[in-house]
Amino acid sequence: MTSSTFSGLPDLPGLPGLYTRNIYCIGRNFEAHAKELNNPVPDRPVLFIKPLSSLSFDGIILLPSFIREPHYETELVVAIGTKGKNIQSGDALNHVAGYGLGIDVTARDIQHELKKASHPWFLAKGMDTFTQVSSFIPAGSVEDPQKLTFTMSLNGEKRQTGDTSLMVFPVAEQIAFLSRYVTLQPGDLLFTGTPKGVGLLRDGDLIRAELMSGEVTFNVRVKGII
Ligand code: ZN
Repeated sequence: MTSSTFSGLPDLPGLPGLYTRNIYCIGRNFEAHAKELNNPVPDRPVLFIKPLSSLSFDGIILLPSFIREPHYETELVVAIGTKGKNIQSGDALNHVAGYGLGIDVTARDIQHELKKASHPWFLAKGMDTFTQVSSFIPAGSVEDPQKLTFTMSLNGEKRQTGDTSLMVFPVAEQIAFLSRYVTLQPGDLLFTGTPKGVGLLRDGDLIRAELMSGEVTFNVRVKGII
């Protein structure tokens, strides 16, 4: 891996020359997942960010022992390739460099407390190693990002199946919406929401996720720490 000059982080695996500056995430983008957590399906995208310090390509989630309910959320991750502001949805996919998978690790117990107090989710999702990202396949190899499937199994048992045609807000609309507010930069990542089936992680768990029937495979190990 080559090192970057800006972030100190390596290039995005599979997309040489791109390194991440911002990690944007959409919440509640699959109806069945919004409902499993008793949340309403939003009529506009629910967006949040995860800090760069939470990003990991090493495939190891470190779980502090004070978290009672650490959850996995498996998501399609979009890597932005070209800068843009006020991007039109018809042009949005031209700004994508590649597609990969990510695990948006969430301390659900902490998130519930923060939500109850109307506070930001940051601490629940922003801890070190809580943003796990796979290698990427170039956008040119993906004909339509709304026709992708991905799966996630935990210790060999299938837990999540994602069908991107079921997204409330398709990738192009997410990019168009977000870029009304922020300038998207090359290397920025967009976590596009998790399907239903989120659940608990424990020390020693092994996550295996696959995109496009194995064109991207992704293994992540969970380690409990004091
Ligand atoms: Zn998520």
